[in-house]
Amino acid sequence: MRLEGKVAFISGGSRGMGAAEAKLFAKEGASVVIGDVLDDEGKQVEAEINETGGHCLFVHLDVTSETNWNEAVAATVARFGKLDIMVNNAGIGGGGSKVEDTTVEEWDETMNINAKGVFFGTKTAIAEMRKTGGGSIINISSQLGLVGTDISSPQYQASKGAVRVFTKAAAVQYAAEGIRVNSVHPGPIVTAMTERRRSEPENYALMTSRIPMGRFGQPDEVANGVLYLASDESAYVTGSELVIDGGWTAQ
Ligand code: NAD
Repeated sequence: MRLEGKVAFISGGSRGMGAAEAKLFAKEGASVVIGDVLDDEGKQVEAEINETGGHCLFVHLDVTSETNWNEAVAATVARFGKLDIMVNNAGIGGGGSKVEDTTVEEWDETMNINAKGVFFGTKTAIAEMRKTGGGSIINISSQLGLVGTDISSPQYQASKGAVRVFTKAAAVQYAAEGIRVNSVHPGPIVTAMTERRRSEPENYALMTSRIPMGRFGQPDEVANGVLYLASDESAYVTGSELVIDGGWTAQ
């Protein structure tokens, strides 16, 4: 198994890509902690993993609260003894307003969850990983952290761009301590976040027209990439950007 004996924390693991990663990591031998604001959904994922022979704990976590982060990582260590893998996956979506129509409240909410949440998750993980001599932090950005578009919001794209370069800063700062930090850049994926876009025929056609492969990706197609970065197979990989976007950024 590719994550045998490892302990992983996944923020935003109650549904979508985070839940897919939690299930895949557990199948590959990791003990998994899910932190999310969606308690019922998170407990369902926890039960599903535990009922199928895995080891999972759900903790309530709002990624914008540093206090919550400290409690969540402390609960992880109390239950499973250490922390090897941190997936900063929690996030909220884009909408589509232009810069002039964007309010300060909209900007702050997205930056707080998508960018500050990743900063807190990384900061909290480093202290714990140092104790065991290393670890792997995977920050979920987006293809929209690499290029701009007219069909998402400025704050979403800014938040994901911030995650991209923050990841590189942390990678350089902690490489000598064996803590690897990489970003993942999914394109449009079939999750609740893209439900509206996929259910409106015109919106769906517009989105798929921008994807060279002509389809949305599946959560598992991203989870497999995250698994590689979480495992020791990527031991020499840090500060990198893994793009899983059906070709969106290739054009
Ligand atoms: P999703 O909405 O299904 O899952 C996001 C999860 O994050 C939810 O469980 C939600 O409750 C949680 N979350 C939101 N705010 C939180 C907070 N303050 N504290 C803790 N948890 C919180 O969406 P998804 O598509 O699975 O998104 C996962 C990540 O992938 C996000 O960072 C998203 O921006 C990114 N992403 C998604 C797509 C896509 O097309 N779906 C594309 C690129 C990047």
